[in-house]
Order: sequence, then structure tokens, then C-alpha cells
Amino acid sequence: MNTLDQIKNAIRHAMKSEFYKRHFEGINVDDIKSMSDFIKLPFTDKEDLRLAYPFGLQAVPDEEIIRIHSSSGTTGIPVIIPYTKKDVDDWAVMFKRCYETAGCTNLDRIHITPGYGLWTAGIGFQAGAELLGALAIPMGPGNTDKQIKMMIDLKSTVICATSSYALLLAEEIEKRGVRGSIHLKKGVIGSERWGEKMRKRIAGELGVELYDIYGLTEIYGPGIGINCQYQSAMHMWTDYMYCEIIDPKTGKLVPDGETGELVITTLHKEGAPLIRYRTHDLTKIVPGKCECGLDYPRIATLIGRSDDMVKVRGAIIYPSRVDELLATIDGVSSEYQIMIDHLNGKDILTLFFETKLEMGDAAHGLEKTVEQEFKKIIGLTPKAKAVGMGELPRSEKKSTRVFDNRY
Ligand code: ZN
Repeated sequence: MNTLDQIKNAIRHAMKSEFYKRHFEGINVDDIKSMSDFIKLPFTDKEDLRLAYPFGLQAVPDEEIIRIHSSSGTTGIPVIIPYTKKDVDDWAVMFKRCYETAGCTNLDRIHITPGYGLWTAGIGFQAGAELLGALAIPMGPGNTDKQIKMMIDLKSTVICATSSYALLLAEEIEKRGVRGSIHLKKGVIGSERWGEKMRKRIAGELGVELYDIYGLTEIYGPGIGINCQYQSAMHMWTDYMYCEIIDPKTGKLVPDGETGELVITTLHKEGAPLIRYRTHDLTKIVPGKCECGLDYPRIATLIGRSDDMVKVRGAIIYPSRVDELLATIDGVSSEYQIMIDHLNGKDILTLFFETKLEMGDAAHGLEKTVEQEFKKIIGLTPKAKAVGMGELPRSEKKSTRVFDNRY
């Protein structure tokens, strides 16, 4: 079946849900005769899904639903995603493929630190590991002492974590001087935007190869794409989904190789199919064939969220550009935070960064360097503030770098 026919089948199925009956009202699937007709369909956004609370997305009878997951939101109304047996199985198949792409086998011992529960993370890592036939160690988050003890005693070979939790574990292992007792070979890290410097620190301190795994609760969960040993980009399992990259402002498709927002249409999802779902993740299609030989198309490591892009005094700031900028300055660690405030009629950007330097003249000099480089690359002068190593918060969930207090 060609892609257009698969998409049309997915739309027909989606329109069995209350949500898509309403969202696509007046649309006749038989009128979609080409991909250019398809891209005229309205997008689906997370805000729309909240209107479907609790079961408005469900496209199959109740007896076929075996589980739900949920993603939280800032507005307080969660999004509920119902799964059928086939959805759960398909997700595990994709996740197993991720582990295999990372070179994991049934001899690996997979240490899973993402949370279990309504959130899709932990259980997805678990199902994929079990289908692979590896040994799953379902730790969940927190209790760093126990994490490290189990990692040593059980000889865990693969660590699954968010990048900020992997960094915290790496720092604790270093601090305790137990690096020699750790058997980790690979890290499978929930993809969020993270800079080269942080990646190098985690890889170096844990002594592992790192793999970025991609996913979101609305589309199965983590495991819908991962990078291979060539590291450059993430292969997406496009036999299960159709991917588009759009300009987040205009909604128009951008050419391969250009940065925009990833939009996903599920091709086989039964419980809660999604059509043209806006992920708000900024990335690009990496053209050409990967050296590893896999035919699945690749997207670049995420450079941020379309809703994280902030504008301050006319300058557009992507957190990933700040990562890159700080990586070029000696003495500045990979951890930083940006605060934007509105004071006396003016927007003020304060950049906190960690450094090993003593607070005092040396740190003060480094603050000046950061301010000058920031001005040169981003186009506005921040107020830079040095803090000691470990002073900025680490989190077990995705880390937030930018706090916009203006509104
Ligand atoms: Zn590859």
C-alpha cells in the first residue's frame, strides 16, 4: 500500500473518534487524492486533545482498550491516550528495534530509571527490553544510593535515563570514586535538547556510548526513533508513522535539511490515532542515506521546542544556540539557566552558569567573557552570573533552561 493510501486509512479510522468527527467535520476522505490535499488538513495540537478529555480520542469500542497513559500539562487538564493490545505490542516492537539499533542484545542488563505510571516512559523501556530478551531492571527514578549500589551489584550494562538524571548519576559515581566498579557500556537517553558538552561529560564520566531515543506520550511514548552508531541523527520508524517538518509560524512544509517543527501522523495506531499532530519539537530531516545501512529516514538531534524559542529585545534565542555558545568558552560547565524579567519597562536577561573557578575575580572575568560572546553570537548583552558546580537544580524529568517571568 502506498503512503497516501495508508494515511487515508488512518484518517478514516481516526474519524471514528468523537474528537476527529468534530475536528474533521465536513471533510470527505475520498476527496484526498494527493499528498498536497493531505497537507491541507488542519493540524492537531495538544490543546485540542485536552478538549477530548477523558475518552474523546478513543476510536475503538471499550472492550478493545487495555491501558491508558496520560501526559500532564500546565493547564491542569491532562491528555488521556487509550491503547489497544496491538498498540502496546507495536510500541514494544519499535522499542526493541531501538535497543537493537543501539547494539543491545539479550545478554544486556538494562537499568531503567525513568518513572513508571501514567507517564509512558518506564513501562516503554521495560516492554522493549523484555521483547529483546534482555534483563530489565525496573528501578524508576530517585534514590541515587540504591541506583548506584544496584548498578554495581547487578552489573548493569545499559543505563536508560533523561540527560539530566544521567548527568546527576555520572557526577555521583565520580564523587564516590566507584567508576571502576561500574559495568555500563551504553546509555539510552530520553531525547530532549542537550548540548555536545553535556553529552561529552556524561559519556566521559560514565565511560559509555550514548544513544538519543525519541518519543512522546501522545504518539506511543519513547521508542519511536533512535540514533545509530553513526551518532549523527535519529532514525524514525516510518513504517508506523508519517513525518512532516513545518515552519512553526506559517504551518507550511519546509524542505529537507531545513529546521522546523516535527508533525506526526500515526499509520497503525488503533486506540487513539493522531493525524498531523504538532510535536512542537524543532528538528530537521537529515537528507541522504545513513552509513549504517538502515533505510529509515533520520531527524537531527532536537534543537529545542518551538514554544521555547524566546524573543528578548528583538533577538531570537534558541536554547541550543546558548549550549553551543557556552561550549566554546573555557571554564564554563554545560549547566546553565536563563531568567528573563521585565523591570522598569525593560526586558532583562540573566544567564546563570556553573564553573569550577573560585568565586571572586576569576569568576568575574569569566562573566564578562560570557557577556561579550553572548552579545557577539545572539545579539544582546545578558547579565551573566557565575555559580559553583552543582548549584543549579538537576531534575529527573526533562530540564528547563529558560524561565520567562515577563508575563
Ligand atoms: Zn544509521
